[in-house]
Amino acid sequence: MSIIDQLCHLCYVLLTGRGARLCMSDCRGNPLWLPWEEVSLSGSGRITITILAVIGIILSTAFTGFSDTERMIRVGLSKGLTKASLSASDWRLYDGFNQEPVLCGKGEIVFQIVTAAAPEASTPAASDTDITVAGAMIKTVSSAGVCSRPGPFRLVPDGPSQVIAFAGKRYRGLAEVRSDGKGRLTVINVLPLEQYLYGVINCEMPASWNPEALKAQAVVARTYALKNVDKHRAESFDLCNDVHCQVYGGLDREHANGIRAVRETEREILTWDGQPIDSVFHASCGGYTEDAGNVWVGDIPYLKAAPCSTDEPELLHFPLNSLYREFFPIGPWLSDYPQALCRRSGTYRWHQVLTMPQAERVLKDKVPLLSGRSGTGKLMDIRVTGRSQAGRVTALDIVCSNGIYKVERDRIRSFLGGLKSTLFVIRTVYDKDGRALAFGFEGGGWGHGVGLCQTGADGLARVGWSYDRILKHYYRGVTLEKESETCPIFP
Ligand SMILES: [Zn+2]
Ligand SMILES: [Zn+2]
Repeated sequence: MSIIDQLCHLCYVLLTGRGARLCMSDCRGNPLWLPWEEVSLSGSGRITITILAVIGIILSTAFTGFSDTERMIRVGLSKGLTKASLSASDWRLYDGFNQEPVLCGKGEIVFQIVTAAAPEASTPAASDTDITVAGAMIKTVSSAGVCSRPGPFRLVPDGPSQVIAFAGKRYRGLAEVRSDGKGRLTVINVLPLEQYLYGVINCEMPASWNPEALKAQAVVARTYALKNVDKHRAESFDLCNDVHCQVYGGLDREHANGIRAVRETEREILTWDGQPIDSVFHASCGGYTEDAGNVWVGDIPYLKAAPCSTDEPELLHFPLNSLYREFFPIGPWLSDYPQALCRRSGTYRWHQVLTMPQAERVLKDKVPLLSGRSGTGKLMDIRVTGRSQAGRVTALDIVCSNGIYKVERDRIRSFLGGLKSTLFVIRTVYDKDGRALAFGFEGGGWGHGVGLCQTGADGLARVGWSYDRILKHYYRGVTLEKESETCPIFP
């Protein structure tokens, strides 16, 4: 970025409190958010954009009721498409930075990428809105006519429903359709962060759970979104809509209980040292959560092991607790059903068996000693060689006839074909000659075990804990605050 760019950017940040994007109002007063990279123009363009930014803020605040403190988010709905069909009862189509719509129509509109070399060669221009430029070209076809432009296009729903449909789902906000620069289309849903959370919370936690647990999940989801907003920057959006980021199902996955939880925690996030925390969570911990450093590489001060119980952890008789270690080994503790808060989870305790042939099949491609790359050994045994203070397996030996292969931390789960957690003991069945015949995994909980235990959070809510107390139980030493007070700009 040049010095002029930086000054322009700084000016914009100071004026808007937003570092990476620009808000402009469209002709109906709807906010249009553009990534900063798109507005790094040359010469007078930069100054024009800065002036437009100021005008945009004044217009949006004074005439549209849209507050600049309302955080917008860009959610990738689909990428790598050659064709995308979207629809709305009534819509307006905007192109690039234009403030006037290029088309207004009803119903379906199909976007299709055409190359710069032959955009209109085989398809003659069908209307005077067609233009030809070098680079990627997107063609739209709808009842309002044909339009070919480089994009990105923004499809803004009009009329009473204000909803866009794409791939069988309905969405709030507007849709952006753009070229990915590699001959494919990306479809992005642009909407206020708080409305995005309406479509997230019930994908991550059942709407029937206690309101305080739903509020805790709302804060976790909001914090996660802000912490990970750069994850898909290279693809021109903030977060994707599946488990890689957070599952987002749009309008059809909303529920009144989830919406209430989002509204009652409006703009609240968890911070550590003034920054949004890494608010990881899991379905159920099995009785005790885990230090992040025992699951992934690197210690995180607020992601520490905690009993999944009220403030009386001794009720759990936790075996690795120094008080109980001698009397309650981990195996019987797992076979038992101690009174942890996630006890009612269907995965609180689980059992899985791998016969020797099954184990060999699962491990063959992953262990060089078995795959032929370092020899063609035979699997002999699987042994736990490391266990954390919170009970999870941190190191495993895959014993082969030609050597030992070591696996560590959370990689163990996928390595053994998708175990529910690393909180397990192995019951190995041997034949009379001491050869392993089968491995029985007796385990507890579902997920990595770090941060908030969702079922435990619901359990704490049921015994009367408030959402902020629940959050501070699973994330140690964090602060709950309104996001604009702590992180007014994107990095
Ligand atoms: Zn993602
Ligand atoms: Zn738990």
